[in-house]
Amino acid sequence: MAELAATKKTCRACKAEKPLAEFCKRPKQKDGLDPLCRACDDKIVYWIGVDLGQAQDYTAIAILEDQGEDDVVFDLRYLERVPLRTSYHDIVKRVGDMMENLKCKRCRLAVDATGVGVPVVELFENAALWPTAVTITGGVTPSMDGFGGYHVPKRDLVSKLAVLFQNGRLRVARGIGHGQLFIKELQAFRVKISLSGHDSYEAHREGDHDDLVLAVAIGAWVAERERGAAMVMI
Ligand SMILES: [Zn+2]
Repeated sequence: MAELAATKKTCRACKAEKPLAEFCKRPKQKDGLDPLCRACDDKIVYWIGVDLGQAQDYTAIAILEDQGEDDVVFDLRYLERVPLRTSYHDIVKRVGDMMENLKCKRCRLAVDATGVGVPVVELFENAALWPTAVTITGGVTPSMDGFGGYHVPKRDLVSKLAVLFQNGRLRVARGIGHGQLFIKELQAFRVKISLSGHDSYEAHREGDHDDLVLAVAIGAWVAERERGAAMVMI
């Protein structure tokens, strides 16, 4: 007996069984359809965090998926450590391409505006990628910068991220590149925070990096602050 072709599919997010027309086409999926129905798909927001490095530090890019539910859960979908000596122009282009690839979705970009970041944020602005600037400080209280960006203590950035992770509200997608390294970096930070109180946790051992943690932290911090507010459609 010939197998009947399925006419309905269960959405991974809302678990409702819906007609196939309710699912966007996704050629890479086994059945050629998005795992999420169109209604759920429309609620997804991608928060992109960029931590900018200089000569010896990596620049890192993180993409967090936010299903738009009231109880926020972020899924870390992508992490990239950009090769050293990549020009800032190329980094801006790379991020722009990623946002383009997430088309028909909503994207929000948060960029490290500390030190060398200032002119780079301008490059992102010139490319019409609407970055939210995050200046990392050694202070204790976050504040607005008066231009739509934020000044955020490093301690606040990282401890908020650690809490999200601990509570299961930041999930690291299985098999993503640098996922394990990110978790290691985050755990190293937590140890430093609990061991040393205020600011000395910033002191790193030789060879320590925090680019992955900071990229995710910048994205998540701005997401928690701004989710639900008007989104920029790409
Ligand atoms: Zn659904």
